[in-house]
Amino acid sequence: MTEPLSPPKRKNPLARTRRTLLPPSARSRTAHGLTLAAAEGRFALQRCGECGKFTYPPRDACPECLSSQLVFVEAPVGGVLVTSTTIHVTGDSYFREHMPWRQGIVVADCGPRIIAHLHADCTDGERVNLSLRLDKAGQPVAFAAPSQRASNMQDDPALREMTADPRYRRVLITNGRHPATEALVRSFKDAGATSVFVGVAEAWKPLAGEDRLGAIDGVQLLPLDLTDQRSVFNLAADIAGKVDILVNTADHVRPVHLFEPAGTRKLMEAVNATVAGTMNLAQAFGPAMAGRGADGVNSAAAWVNLLSAYALANAPEFGAVSVSHAACLSLSHWLRAELRKGGVRLLNAFAGPLDDEWYQSVPAPRVSAGQLADGIIDGLRRGLEEIYVGDVARDIRARLAANPKALEREIGR
Ligand SMILES: [Zn+2]
Repeated sequence: MTEPLSPPKRKNPLARTRRTLLPPSARSRTAHGLTLAAAEGRFALQRCGECGKFTYPPRDACPECLSSQLVFVEAPVGGVLVTSTTIHVTGDSYFREHMPWRQGIVVADCGPRIIAHLHADCTDGERVNLSLRLDKAGQPVAFAAPSQRASNMQDDPALREMTADPRYRRVLITNGRHPATEALVRSFKDAGATSVFVGVAEAWKPLAGEDRLGAIDGVQLLPLDLTDQRSVFNLAADIAGKVDILVNTADHVRPVHLFEPAGTRKLMEAVNATVAGTMNLAQAFGPAMAGRGADGVNSAAAWVNLLSAYALANAPEFGAVSVSHAACLSLSHWLRAELRKGGVRLLNAFAGPLDDEWYQSVPAPRVSAGQLADGIIDGLRRGLEEIYVGDVARDIRARLAANPKALEREIGR
C-alpha cells in the first residue's frame, strides 16, 4: 500500500532549489496522437482500419497487415502486468534523481504489449488499469496502476511526478470576485491544499462571501489587481516563491454588440482585464514557478486558466468574451511552452456559460461554481492539459473536432 505523503518540512532558506531536469522528450509526429489523448485524460491507441487490431507503440503501418489506416480510438483500459523490473541505476539525469523507478510489460486486454511506468502497488501477474499520462516534460507515457483502488494511491511518487495533486500544495486564486472563487477555495482545501491565497482587487469594494472565506483555516485574502502591473509584481515579490498552483480566474463578461458605438472601448476593456491580466501574471509569477518545478513534495506544479468555451468558436451574443478568451488561449500556449521547460504544467479549463448574473439570458444547462471547481481539482489530480466542464463546453469540443464550419454556422445563428 502507498505510504501517505507527509507534510513537507519547512525549507531551509539557504538550501539551493533543485534544478528541474526533464525526462527524454523526443516523440514522432504520429506519437502525438497519444499526447492529445493524454492531455484530455483519455486512453486511446491506434487501431487498424483494415484488420481491426490495436497496436502500440504508435507507428505508421499496421504490424499485422501493413495497412496505413491506423486511427487513434478509445481503447479498453484493462490489462495484466506480466513482468516488472525495478531500475536502480541509469545514465539519464532526470531518472537518476528519482531512483528506484519501476517499469513493466502489460498485456492489454485489447491486444498489444505495452511497456509502462508502474504505480508502486502493482504486482506481477495481477490486473492493472492502463492510462496515458503527461510526464514532467509534457510528453505522453503509458502508466499502469492496480485495478483495485486503495487509499493514498495518489501519493505514489511516480504518479505525483505526472500529476498536480493539490495535496500539501499552496494555491493562488487570482480574482476573488470571480463567481467560482468560494467553491474553488473550498474544493482546494478539501483536496488537502496547505494554503489558499485569494487576490482581491479594489479592496474598498465589498467582496461577496468575504466573512465565510476568511473563516476557512489557511485562506488569506491579498490585494491583487490583475490589470495593474505594479500590483501584480508587488504580490509576486511576497508570495511567488510559494505558489505551487496558480488559478487564473481573470474574466470580464459584458454584453457588447459589434456595431454599437462603444463596441471598441468595451472590447478593449475585456481584453485588458483578461489578456493583459494574464500577461501580467505570466511575467510576475511565471519565472518563479518555472524555477521551482523540482522543489520536493510541494514543488510548483500547475498553472490553471479558466477559459470560456466560446474561446473556441465566437458566440456573437458574447462576442467580446469570445475574442478576449481566444487571445488568452493563444497566450496560454505561449506560456505553456515556457512553463514546460521548468516541468510545470498548464491546464486550460474550458467552461460553458456559468450560472451567474452575466449569463442570465442563456438557457440551461449552465455550469455551477461547484461543477467548475470539481472539474479543475479532477483535472489537476490527473495531470491534464485540457478539460471541458459542462455540456456546452463538451459539445463545442466535439463539434469542433467533427466539423469546425458547422460549429461556426450553428453557434453564430
Ligand atoms: Zn491491420
